[in-house]
Amino acid sequence: MAARKSNTSHKNLSARLSRRRNPELVRAARKRYYAKHSEQIKEAQRRFYARTRERQRAYAKRYYLNHRSECRANMKAQYRKNRTKWLAQVREHRRKNREHFLAYDRRRRRENPARIDTRILRWRKANPLAAKAHAAVLRSVKRGEIVRPNHCTDCNEKRKLHAHHHRGYERPLDVEWLCASCHRLRHSSQKTRS
Ligand SMILES: [Zn+2]
Ligand SMILES: [Zn+2]
Repeated sequence: MAARKSNTSHKNLSARLSRRRNPELVRAARKRYYAKHSEQIKEAQRRFYARTRERQRAYAKRYYLNHRSECRANMKAQYRKNRTKWLAQVREHRRKNREHFLAYDRRRRRENPARIDTRILRWRKANPLAAKAHAAVLRSVKRGEIVRPNHCTDCNEKRKLHAHHHRGYERPLDVEWLCASCHRLRHSSQKTRS
C-alpha cells in the first residue's frame, strides 16, 4: 500500500512538472476536452447558474447601485459601438418572425389605440411639413373631400395606397395615390422627400 501511494504521488509530481513545462500542450488538451464534453460542461454551467441565480443577481444589483454612473457610461458606450449591429439583428429577428410581430403589433394597437409609436412621433418632429401635409390629406379623406382610390397610380395594382405629394408638401392636398413599393421607387428616383 505504502509503496503504491508514494508511486502515485511521484507520478502526480512529475505530471505537474510536465504540465508546467508545456503550457501549450495543456491548453490544447483542455481545448480537446472541452470540445468532447462541451454539452456536459454547458449543462453543468446552466445548473450552477440556476442554483446561484438569486445570489448572482443580488450581487450584480449591488454592484450596479455602487457604480451607477460608471455602469451607465459603459452601457452607453457599448450601445453606441454596437448600435448598427444590434439594430440589424432586431430587424432580422422581426423579418424571420414576421407573422408573430404583425400579430403582436395589431394586438398592441387594439389594446392601446391612443398610444402613438415613438418612431412616428420622431418622424413628425423631423419632418414637420410632411407631417402637416399628411394630416391634411387624412382629414380631407375623412370628410369625403378626397376619395382614396383602390388602385395604384403607377402600377394599377389593387393595394393599400399612400398619398404621395408629387409636387411637394407646400401643396398639401395635391397628391397621387401609390402602393408602398411604387411610392418607395418614386422617392428613391426623385431624391426629394415629398
Ligand atoms: Zn404601385
Ligand atoms: Zn411620397
